[in-house]
Order: sequence, then structure tokens, then C-alpha cells
Amino acid sequence: MNKIDYLRLSLIDKCNFRCQYCMPEEAQLKYILHQDLLTNEEIITLLKKVFIPLGFTKFRLTGGEPLLRPGLEDLVRDIANLPETEDLGMTTNGFLLTKMAQSLYNAGLRRINISLDSLNPQTFDWIIGNGNPSRWQQTWQGILTAYEVGFDPLKLNVVIIPGVNDGEILDLAALTIERNWHIRFIEFMPIGNGELFTEKAWIPSEEIRQQIRSKWGLVTSNVTGNGPADVFQIPDAKGTLGFISQMSECFCDRCNRVRLSADGWLRPCLLNEEGQIDLKTALRQGVDGEILKTQVQKLLELKPEINFKQRDAGTDTGFYSRTMSQIGG
Ligand code: SAM
Ligand code: SF4
Repeated sequence: MNKIDYLRLSLIDKCNFRCQYCMPEEAQLKYILHQDLLTNEEIITLLKKVFIPLGFTKFRLTGGEPLLRPGLEDLVRDIANLPETEDLGMTTNGFLLTKMAQSLYNAGLRRINISLDSLNPQTFDWIIGNGNPSRWQQTWQGILTAYEVGFDPLKLNVVIIPGVNDGEILDLAALTIERNWHIRFIEFMPIGNGELFTEKAWIPSEEIRQQIRSKWGLVTSNVTGNGPADVFQIPDAKGTLGFISQMSECFCDRCNRVRLSADGWLRPCLLNEEGQIDLKTALRQGVDGEILKTQVQKLLELKPEINFKQRDAGTDTGFYSRTMSQIGG
């Protein structure tokens, strides 16, 4: 059985973007009320009393948009300072990074993944929803600032959507030639926006690799991460190219993670609602840490049975109406 030692913590379900594939503007989303968000103190209590004793050492802060979370730097500092923390990362859209990258670095954050689906400001603005003035430049500046501040590795997440940004695969891959950046191509998933998914469909990682291979060649990289990405490199490039292929290749068997939503639900699988535990309510009702730990341990034992493969077999549409921003992507 896989060692499950990686917790993705959603800090907030709100976002300053409305990406077409994640939370399209017309979607009516019911946001978590402020009083229902886990507080920083509750998060630290859960880490200390439940997750760390069960062997968790890798934590990723996500959302929604984690940079919108009040008190973020304090939380980063508290998690980074836990002696058991081996790895602390964040996934962000980068828009607010120009002003926050340095303070996050000072608080102890070292790994950052920034979503950037296009190098073309117009395409970018279409993807993230209508914004005036364009938000590409500020996002790009956020990426450059994170790089200058010293985030290493600096990873850029790209979701390729046919007919939208698939013409930019080579330009995005080329960013890794001169810079030690890691571009990760994520297959578009049927979650969040069913209409867009049905209309545009998705491109398998192997097709993306084939385009890159034909232009420069592609070799397997010996840099690996904590996650499900298969990592390659353009020969002699400084950075790497990762491929997250949850559509074309099921990686449930090597899944090492669970997710905690911003309102405290522990979820064993991204695409399967089964088995969730409401840790916030239990904590607020004063349930003892030992009891919570036992409940979570049981869930971890069941996790291999609660997966995407199994959920997929049971679904009639294959589409998931909850968004990544609600679950904590
Ligand atoms: N707001 C942050 C961001 O965009 O990086 C963190 C949360 S976001 C939900 C995390 C990741 O989920 C992003 O890289 C985003 O591209 C990805 N994502 C959201 N919806 C997706 C979908 N339908 N298919 C594939 N990836 C998706
Ligand atoms: Fe916001 Fe990230 Fe979802 Fe885009 S992908 S809407 S940035 S949470």
C-alpha cells in the first residue's frame, strides 16, 4: 500500500479569477461563510494532533486562491516551523505574488506552483474571465518576482484546452530551455465546467509530448516530485516538463494524498465524495484528538478502495459538478 503522507489544504474557496474550466462566471457558487472556514489555529491543531502523528510530512496550501486568505503568512510560518514538516508548497494563480512573494518566502515557503495557461494576454483574459485592464501582465510579474525571490522549484501549471491554448504548447515548453522552471501540463478534467469540456474536449499528454519531441527531442528527467507528474526534459534544457495525465492514464494506484477542504472536510479522493469526515465540526464539538486520529486512520486504510477508477465506474455522466476551487485543487 502507498504511504499516504501528503495533505493538500484548501485555505479558502473564493478566487479573484473565474477560470472557464474551474469556476465559469455564469456558475452560481455558494461560498463557505467566514465563520465556517477552519481557523489558522484549528489547522495547526489538526496537523499536530491528527495528521503528523499519522505520518504526514508534506503539505500544500491551495484553494480557491490561497493568497486571498487573511493571515496567510502567519499560517505558513506556523506550518514551516513544525519540526515534522519536510515539504511545504503552495498552488496559486500568482496574481498577488508581486507584493506577497517576499513575505511568504520570509515566512518559510520554498515551493510554489503558479497556474499560467497562456502567454497571450488576450487568451489569458478569456480563460480567467473578463477583467479590465488585462491581468496577464501582473500575473507574469508575480511569476518573475517569485523567481527573483528564490522560490525553487518554481513550477507553472498549464491546462491545455483544444482550440484555446493548444497553439502555445511549444512556446510554453520553450520557457524551460533557458530558465530552471518546471512546466506541468495538466490534462483538462471533466470537473467544474461540463459545457466547456463537452465542447472542447481534452488533449492527451502523449500528444503534447509528441509535439515537443518533434521539435527538440525529449528525454526522461531524473528530477521527480511528490506527485503524479511524469517528468521529462528537452535535451540540455535547464528546466523540466511534467505531465499530469489523470484522463489518459489512471494513477490512483500511486496516489499518496488526501485533501482537507477550507471548511474542514477531509476527502480521500479528488473525484470521489465517499468517506469524507467533517473534522471542523468534530473539533468544535470538543472531540478528542485521539478519536479524530483513529477516524482518519480508518479512512486512510479505506482510501485504496475510494478512488477515481471506482467512482468513474459508478457515474452515469462521468462529469463532476463540484469545482476544483470548492474541493481544493
Ligand atoms: N487558484 C490556484 C490556482 O489556480 O493555481 C489554486 C487552486 S486551482 C483549483 C488548482 C489547480 O487546479 C490549477 O492549476 C488549475 O489549473 C487546476 N484545475 C482547475 N480546474 C481544472 C479542470 N477542470 N481540469 C484540470 N485542472 C483544473
Ligand atoms: Fe481560481 Fe485557480 Fe480556479 Fe482559476 S483555477 S478560478 S485561479 S481557483
